[in-house]
Amino acid sequence: MGRVIIYSFLISLIIATGCNSDIQKSSDQNNTNESKTKSDSILAKQNISYNPLMQAVVYQQLSAEKYALEYQTYQLAKMALKEDLANKSIDTQRAVILDIDETVLDNSPYEVMLVRMDTSYPAGWAQWINQSNAELIAGVKDFLVFAKNYGVDIFYLTNRKEQFRNATLKNLNKYDLPQADNDHLLMRTNTSSKKARRDRIKTDYHISLLIGDNLNDFLHIFENKSNEEKKELVDQHQELFGKRFIVLPNATYGDWEAATFQYDYSLNKKEKYIKMLEQLEGF
Ligand SMILES: [Mg+2]
Repeated sequence: MGRVIIYSFLISLIIATGCNSDIQKSSDQNNTNESKTKSDSILAKQNISYNPLMQAVVYQQLSAEKYALEYQTYQLAKMALKEDLANKSIDTQRAVILDIDETVLDNSPYEVMLVRMDTSYPAGWAQWINQSNAELIAGVKDFLVFAKNYGVDIFYLTNRKEQFRNATLKNLNKYDLPQADNDHLLMRTNTSSKKARRDRIKTDYHISLLIGDNLNDFLHIFENKSNEEKKELVDQHQELFGKRFIVLPNATYGDWEAATFQYDYSLNKKEKYIKMLEQLEGF
């Protein structure tokens, strides 16, 4: 992805050090001990403790599979839009609605910071957004230009707070994304539910596609539900996925995570972790 991010470099360095120690284990025990001491000291120096978020961040930022999925998502979005455009019975102006975080913009450097500092959202979130430095999800610009060229309007519907409007626009405009302007950017209102904002768009437009990394980006029926209930709803609406609803992967955060601890944000890290463990089914 061409990222030159100091955080990811440091994480890579730690992983590389870990891998090296594995190789050395079979050949030279002394070197292994030396390497272990070295990696431990890197962990100590960088103030990194073992954190469950680490694996998710590695997948999100470093894996080529996640990167390929981004392209795959937007290829699929193009195909789905083409199909909708072929429906000549629709005479209302068309629009696509995209979530922003982890849909248009990649905030993985922020998640890396959370791991490094052993802290959690919203620590540092405002500082990160105000830098307007998030990179694009692969394939998104190509899709948006495609949509624009077919006369489809584009709405960016985010739960970023109103105070981040200018920083968000600056970030989107850094990449010359079509219709990244005040009229097409809907920030968080008094509720995190996107239903009212979607409904507002729906009064004037035919919504060809909704694109997001959270089921709440598509339909309000998923809000505040357990993961089991959400899966049942996904079953019931399965024909819409890949056709009207386009989902991106996000292993680092989302309502899927909150659902595992019944949206009880007052719980501490360990309590949440125990709740997650209790729900997992093994053999
Ligand atoms: Mg999102």
